Amino acid sequence: MDQSSSPNRDVLVLGAGFAGLATATYLAKAGHRVRVLERHDTLGGRARKFEAEGFTFDMGPSWYWMPDVFERYFEDFGADVNEEMNLVRLDPSYTVWFDDGPLQIPAGLNALATVFESIETGAGKKLRDFMAEAEVKYNIGMSKFVTKPAHNALEFAEWQTVVDATRLSLFTSFSTFARKHFSHPKLLQIMEFPVLFLGAKPEDTPALYSLMNYADTCLGTWYPMGGMNEIVQAMVRVAERQGVEFQCNAEVTAILDEGSRASGVRLADGTTMEAAAVVATGDYHHVEQTLLPAKWRRYDEAYWDKRTMSPSSLLYYVGLDTKVPEFQHHNLFFDTPFGPHATTIYDSHSWPVDPLFYVSAPSRTDLSVAPEGCENLFFLIPLAPGLEEQGNERDRYFEEIMTRLETHLGRDLRPHVIYSRSFAHREFEKEYSSYKGNAYGLANTLRQTAFWKPKMRSKLPGLHFAGQLTTPGPGVPPSLISGEVASRETSKYLHRQGILPEAASQVDLSVEHEHASRG
Ligand SMILES: Cc1cc2nc3c(=O)[nH]c(=O)nc-3n(C[C@H](O)[C@H](O)[C@H](O)COP(=O)(O)OP(=O)(O)OC[C@H]3O[C@@H](n4cnc5c(N)ncnc54)[C@H](O)[C@@H]3O)c2cc1C
Repeated sequence: MDQSSSPNRDVLVLGAGFAGLATATYLAKAGHRVRVLERHDTLGGRARKFEAEGFTFDMGPSWYWMPDVFERYFEDFGADVNEEMNLVRLDPSYTVWFDDGPLQIPAGLNALATVFESIETGAGKKLRDFMAEAEVKYNIGMSKFVTKPAHNALEFAEWQTVVDATRLSLFTSFSTFARKHFSHPKLLQIMEFPVLFLGAKPEDTPALYSLMNYADTCLGTWYPMGGMNEIVQAMVRVAERQGVEFQCNAEVTAILDEGSRASGVRLADGTTMEAAAVVATGDYHHVEQTLLPAKWRRYDEAYWDKRTMSPSSLLYYVGLDTKVPEFQHHNLFFDTPFGPHATTIYDSHSWPVDPLFYVSAPSRTDLSVAPEGCENLFFLIPLAPGLEEQGNERDRYFEEIMTRLETHLGRDLRPHVIYSRSFAHREFEKEYSSYKGNAYGLANTLRQTAFWKPKMRSKLPGLHFAGQLTTPGPGVPPSLISGEVASRETSKYLHRQGILPEAASQVDLSVEHEHASRG
């Protein structure tokens, strides 16, 4: 960075995942000069992609949910999500493979209600009732809940707390809520899957998160042609149009605290960069425990050890030299009971026997991600965070997936595997400095919701955190929202310091007002 040009007005953003991209873009729109520092050689964080043997693999997220969040995001920068990406709605949304065969989950409430009714008499109507309540939660949650910085409980006092908290079912578990509506085990598994993959057991997750079911069923499961990394590419284009600068291969090794405020960063090559404010979007534990001088840390190792982390994952990126027409784009293998698997993740912290797994097959929708006649597959097994590998776990679980697929498909896919790469705890730790190798942050338990999450505002003035470990939580849309909220908090900090945006006279500062009206 050019040190001669008012360095103390710059904002440095650590990390170029969704949170970092959103933070930087909103700050740039507000007129600040922003530079993003990313340790990897490509942008996107957990949503990076890689190419091998003619396949293009998305490394992390595969479900495009909450299209309204992306729509609004691009609108905020004068862009149109449908011009930035070629989005298609998937129908069926996904397939659940039970032990007695596959069940397709069609897109839309009406079609799904028909499927539910065919499994349990009366369940079609109950699904509509469930979704009506889930819609209320979604609307309250998205308009009043997720856009709060959640510094303290008082922020939540202004809204009709009692009414809304009751309607949000904050103190009812998801499990209880789902069982009020359905009793058939298949229906319960379908309803509980969105919360399972993002955090905790349904009995430990507030019913608030039934908003995920609403997102899934009513707002739809979408896919950007080209792959999920297309979202990253589109966000980078928008960021660059706002003037954000990116620096890859820039590993931050310390956050500087000259003058008892966040005054810049040190990089792995020993150089330092000055700044008026810093936003850190790498994993929270890594930033606080290793980059920040001890006196500014809000949390200690004991605090982190007591958190319920979301699962880690054992992932396989697999290329086949054949097509598998039985697969839909998203396939959930619920052909074994989840109870024992959940116990290994949340209670015994051990390796599971007969785990559930998920297969994404984006080449069923998008021929561009695999060579002709080939299939691009992504396998995911949720695992307890912090597990140590003893030796052959990766081969063993790969074999297990292949054997179970052979049972369902009636043919062996092993001879067709022409590419395979695995990714688990040690890669999450190495690539993202992820605490205990977690994949997607903290579990969505009640005690880890809103102001109970690790704070967005650091004890070190001028440093804010964004990303999946702070509010509002894990997932692509929440991380993106987190960046928006952190940018607003950083803007406020800079204004309090009298550091007005360089381009204040030219830019539309209505971003502040937009933020305020949403908050
Ligand atoms: C396997 C998997 C599947 C998922 N599936 C879905 C899904 O289907 N749908 C969904 O919505 N969500 C999904 N998620 C969750 C979602 O991907 C994440 O919540 C989101 O991408 C997190 O974004 P982030 O910006 O908070 O963090 P990250 O993407 O981790 O970004 C942080 C960035 O900071 C960088 N960084 C860290 N430390 C430093 C440092 N010291 N110096 C410089 N840079 C640094 C990292 O390299 C990284 O690029 C999934 C996640 C995983 C892992």
